[in-house]
Amino acid sequence: MKPSLLDFTLKELQENIKPSFRAKQIYGWLYHQYVQNFDEMKNIPKQLRDELAEKYLLNPLKIIKKEESIDGTIKYLLELQDGKTVEAVWLKMKETLTDEAGEVTQEAKYTICVSTQVGCKVGCAFCLTAKGGFTRDLTAGEIVGQVVALKRDNEHKHNRMINIVYMGMGEPLDNLDNLARAIEIFKEEEGLCISGKRQTVSTSGLSNKIDRLGEMDLGVHIAISLHAVDDELRTELIPMNKAHNISSIIEAVKRFPIDTRKRVMFEYLVIKNKNDDIGSAKKLVKLLSGIKAKVNLIYFNPYPGTEYQRPDKADMIAFQEYLVNHGLLCTIRDSKGIDISAACGQLKEKTGSELK
Ligand code: SAH
Ligand code: SF4
Repeated sequence: MKPSLLDFTLKELQENIKPSFRAKQIYGWLYHQYVQNFDEMKNIPKQLRDELAEKYLLNPLKIIKKEESIDGTIKYLLELQDGKTVEAVWLKMKETLTDEAGEVTQEAKYTICVSTQVGCKVGCAFCLTAKGGFTRDLTAGEIVGQVVALKRDNEHKHNRMINIVYMGMGEPLDNLDNLARAIEIFKEEEGLCISGKRQTVSTSGLSNKIDRLGEMDLGVHIAISLHAVDDELRTELIPMNKAHNISSIIEAVKRFPIDTRKRVMFEYLVIKNKNDDIGSAKKLVKLLSGIKAKVNLIYFNPYPGTEYQRPDKADMIAFQEYLVNHGLLCTIRDSKGIDISAACGQLKEKTGSELK
């Protein structure tokens, strides 16, 4: 498989492409114009365009299916060079607002949820992605390509801000090297210029990798998929909790370099009669004391064949109230795109007949 131009930082392209000033121009074509073939790179001499086309791919993935929700969420199915597929989701976070004169006072804000692997090794009991097992890591270019493809498809100009959440298929920290490379490429000023602050890595809690990500000092946020307050339940839900238990995760979070104005997000998937009781809320408060934390409660989204159930709204609210009354910031995640199965944990690889 040829490498993609989206696999490289600007510095690397400058080293590989001669004369090196061409690299900046190429970056503009890739990340400002979202070109789909080399001949669109008008100010690049034909000979160089041909050389590039021989050596590299442009975007290594293509959109093969698109489902739009009534709330504006769009779920994309993307095909990779080897025919495998991943999903990425375009989420509308804020509406466009206008004043009486029709002037735009607030532009709509979007977040892109990207995948980092085809499948996942972690095997969480509640997650649909896990059901298909693990196929392979995505390359940096395949991670970057999701954002380029979705921005292009939505005609979202390069200089309009976008947030990235690594919450699609896969465990990002299990593909740390490619993840870190993608984060750096997103940050490139000549490219998409998406700062670390706008990128959130969600992890099921590989504590040693949380430390490594911290040492890389990329300026990204982390979100911890905690889901349980005692190791017994957490191991049932997330088998690798055996090797990376709750206290090892909490310790790693305490060491993680966090922007002083920000908080670490703890995701807590609420499952009926499993972890939705006030006793769990109480333990959660204790567990997070001393951490600048924010808790995001997520309704379990059921799917055919799962033994777990969606919690009652009243229990969810009581849980939230308990946390808030005890000094924790806590939100309940509104499930976007629920009508198109784009909600959390509903992303999975599609094969054969499912595509028709
Ligand atoms: N592997 C990473 C990131 C991808 S999963 C992680 O686990 O953090 C993104 C989020 O979706 C996680 O918080 C995960 O717990 C949640 N999720 C998985 N299955 C779900 C389901 N059936 N309903 C609701 N959320 C789910
Ligand atoms: Fe993997 Fe995250 Fe799904 Fe667990 S919840 S199986 S870590 S994608």
